[in-house]
Amino acid sequence: MDSLVADMLYKSTRGEAGSVSFQEALFSGLAPDGGLYIPEVLPKYDASFHSSMVEMSYEEVAFAILKPFVGGCFSDQELNTIISEAYSEFRKSDKCELVNLSENHKILELFHGPTFAFKDFAMQMIARMFHQALKNIRKSITIIVATSGDTGAAAVHAFRNLEFVNLYVLFPKDRISEIQRRQMTTEKASNVSVVSVDGNFDDCQSIVKSIFNDKDFSKAVSLTGVNSINWARIISQVVYYLFAASRLPTSAKIDFCVPTGNFGNIYAGYVAKKLGVNIDKLIIATNRNDILHRTLSSGRYRKGEVLQTFSPSMDIQVSSNFERMLYDVYQCNAKIVRKKMESLQLNGSYDIEEDSLRTLKNDFISGVVTEAETLAEIKKVFMHSKMIICPHTAVGTKVSRNFLDEKNITISLATAHPAKFGDAVEKAISRKIVLPKSLDALFYKREKVVEAPNDVNYLKDFIRREQ
Ligand SMILES: *Cc1c(COP(=O)(O)O)cnc(C)c1O
Repeated sequence: MDSLVADMLYKSTRGEAGSVSFQEALFSGLAPDGGLYIPEVLPKYDASFHSSMVEMSYEEVAFAILKPFVGGCFSDQELNTIISEAYSEFRKSDKCELVNLSENHKILELFHGPTFAFKDFAMQMIARMFHQALKNIRKSITIIVATSGDTGAAAVHAFRNLEFVNLYVLFPKDRISEIQRRQMTTEKASNVSVVSVDGNFDDCQSIVKSIFNDKDFSKAVSLTGVNSINWARIISQVVYYLFAASRLPTSAKIDFCVPTGNFGNIYAGYVAKKLGVNIDKLIIATNRNDILHRTLSSGRYRKGEVLQTFSPSMDIQVSSNFERMLYDVYQCNAKIVRKKMESLQLNGSYDIEEDSLRTLKNDFISGVVTEAETLAEIKKVFMHSKMIICPHTAVGTKVSRNFLDEKNITISLATAHPAKFGDAVEKAISRKIVLPKSLDALFYKREKVVEAPNDVNYLKDFIRREQ
């Protein structure tokens, strides 16, 4: 190890698994007791750290933030290489970009990575972390992921041609956009299989779950997950909250508004706040799949039916990362978290008591946006600012308008490039949007896709044959 810091250890939100190193949390995703890994203690940064960030590049901020979290898993030089390679394909030197909607309302553009959605920020990092860690221990793994579009594209792009990783991406046939499909199927990497499953996203997800639950199979192929509950993805996302804050006057108090489904991105904002960033409120913006908004409003977390919307990457009714928040709200009482999760399993819901809900509301506020409002918001931003935003981003800017606080600076996160969701955008502003060159090029490439029935055993056989 290069510096004299004790290795950070990670514990489970359900309290019945032992503490593990960063490397183990990276590889296992879920803890053996079904909980999510969180650091045992968080570092705290003071004002001098924040002022030191002003002069730093994105990569330097990333190094400073990640170093204590990865502990002895990577040397300083390895971590530096991981970071610089992860962001080498981004189209902006600052990787993200702050633009003004109005005097104290800004957008943080997070879609300048290779697949045009914010998922690149974390996926590019986690791929190189896997690669370096596997190289160090000389081992190969199999990754399998179900996608409704953006995660799969980011994963294929990040993991392609990595020597120690075999990647399988399952997407629901005919239920993702053509651009999203082509982003996955036109990469010709020998270690990547893109599988079109004859079913919907839930079918893909349940195939992945059953494969993971087959312990013998998982062990035989060294199965690993990279979904949004992986701590390495969360901590990679924390970086842009700190970076954005470092580009504002140090006295500014910031409200961040995040269009969210799985509570991954906004939970990273909460971690940034705990690390000492000058964040006031974290604003949860949901589409009609509003489980998080309902939870905050009523104190009851209850699964609903998944509805299709213009912002499909948030069409989700189980916000897995919320379990990490519960753990904090109940002051690290793993027993209570276990009870709530049992209730979710048994009854499809759990309740958050009044005083705990109040604690939650110290940090979070929320809003829900209808389909018509999403389109109207895209149009409004276009008319007023000449800016074209994607439907997910519009859900965020719409909600943030309800909470603009003139003492604070509000930053709405722009999670995808509008061209990725061209149909909705064109409907909103009645004009064709021009595709960026690399997206246009997708239409001239040959696709490679594996067709599969909605059948776990078929996929297991397929993976076994390829080993
Ligand atoms: C994944 C995604 C989201 C939702 O992010 P969560 O971390 O699941 O809350 C929002 N917008 C876009 C474009 C996405 O791809």
